[in-house]
Amino acid sequence: MVDLFVDGTRQLKSLTILGATGSIGRQTLEVAESLDIHVAGIAAYRGSDDLLLAARRQPDCRVVVVGPTADEREQCVAALGTRVAFGEDALLGMAGEPERIVVNGIVGAAGLAPTVAALDAGNRVALANKESLVAGGPVVVAAATAGDGEIIPVDSEHSALWQCLVGEQEETVRRLILTASGGPFRGRSRHELESVTVEEALAHPTWSMGPRITIDSATLMNKAFEVIEAHYLYAIPYDRIDVVVHPQSIVHSLVEFVDGTLKAELGDPDMRVPIQYAITYPARYSANLDPFDLTASPLEFEPPRRDDFPCLDLGYWAGRTGRSAPAVLNAADEVAVAAFLDGRIPFLAIADVVAATLDYLPIVELNNVADVLAVDAEARKAATRFVEVTGEVR
Ligand code: NAD
Ligand code: MG
Repeated sequence: MVDLFVDGTRQLKSLTILGATGSIGRQTLEVAESLDIHVAGIAAYRGSDDLLLAARRQPDCRVVVVGPTADEREQCVAALGTRVAFGEDALLGMAGEPERIVVNGIVGAAGLAPTVAALDAGNRVALANKESLVAGGPVVVAAATAGDGEIIPVDSEHSALWQCLVGEQEETVRRLILTASGGPFRGRSRHELESVTVEEALAHPTWSMGPRITIDSATLMNKAFEVIEAHYLYAIPYDRIDVVVHPQSIVHSLVEFVDGTLKAELGDPDMRVPIQYAITYPARYSANLDPFDLTASPLEFEPPRRDDFPCLDLGYWAGRTGRSAPAVLNAADEVAVAAFLDGRIPFLAIADVVAATLDYLPIVELNNVADVLAVDAEARKAATRFVEVTGEVR
């Protein structure tokens, strides 16, 4: 296992933050500042003002910008000089610097290669980028088991499961139960879902997150991804992973054991808590939060409406089918969500585009990152075509 302290001095290793300008990245920077952890590198797709601001707050960290505009490139060089590098190779180089705790807060399948590079270098990956495991599960698991690297989940449900499983024997686990908030459309009828707007879909009731995962929460595709993520993280079959809707997002997930015991992890919905835990595990550091008020709200649970939110079962189907099916699921969903956000397809067509793409493409073996990226590209092409057809039909 990775040692997270430098030379046993109890000073945490330096952090690398990928996706530093996003929701997870910004909250990771807050955690780093509050715990006074050194940040060695930050990376983002664009060379935005947010990135430059973050670079200024961490004066000796190196910066990678993966896809800058010409103006941004100039601005970054002017502001950061030799501290900045550009492009995908620079991103992989930063992820693969040894002796780091790498927080991967990139969105989409673009997070896969950096996850593998970080694991190959023997680093701890505090993994928020669930697409790494959804698209490239077998490849990521192989990278984590082959070397000294390790994955500690940041996704709140998987952090909860991790905490419930500490000290337990694998064979005593009967079931993993993932909680889902149900998103903004939990109570809407199928008919009402036909006309929901982008603004309504972006208004998540309990979590404030980036646009893609927020839409995925509204379709329940996010929960489908999390089922697949749990399958790979905990090597547990799909028929022992369940989903329950819990609108308050206080119970972050549960483990049921063979003796009938249920263990759950609870807390306010605040991603800084699982981010911090993934960095400091197995240690716990104070987060200076107010004591939790158990009497503040009831805790409710209900079954997911699987027929009205078909993405959940598409995810189970892709997970059980295995091999490249989850990579297709993810790529098609990335394309469909982008099309919904642009107003090119209606909300309910997201599931249709994903289902059509899964139906259309052959399922193949995945042996390495290149295999996953090839499937990802094929699936994007097919999904883009299905989006166009949907748009024409409208
Ligand atoms: P976001 O959209 O707010 O931020 C995404 C970040 O990724 C940005 O910094 C962006 O510059 C960077 N990025 C995008 N494409 C890139 C590329 N090709 N190369 C390098 N960097 C790239 O997203 P987010 O909400 O912070 O989510 C990040 C990941 O964490 C997602 O996988 C999401 O599912 C997961 N996650 C997020 C939350 C949350 O609360 N936001 C909770 C659980 C899991
Ligand atoms: Mg989650």
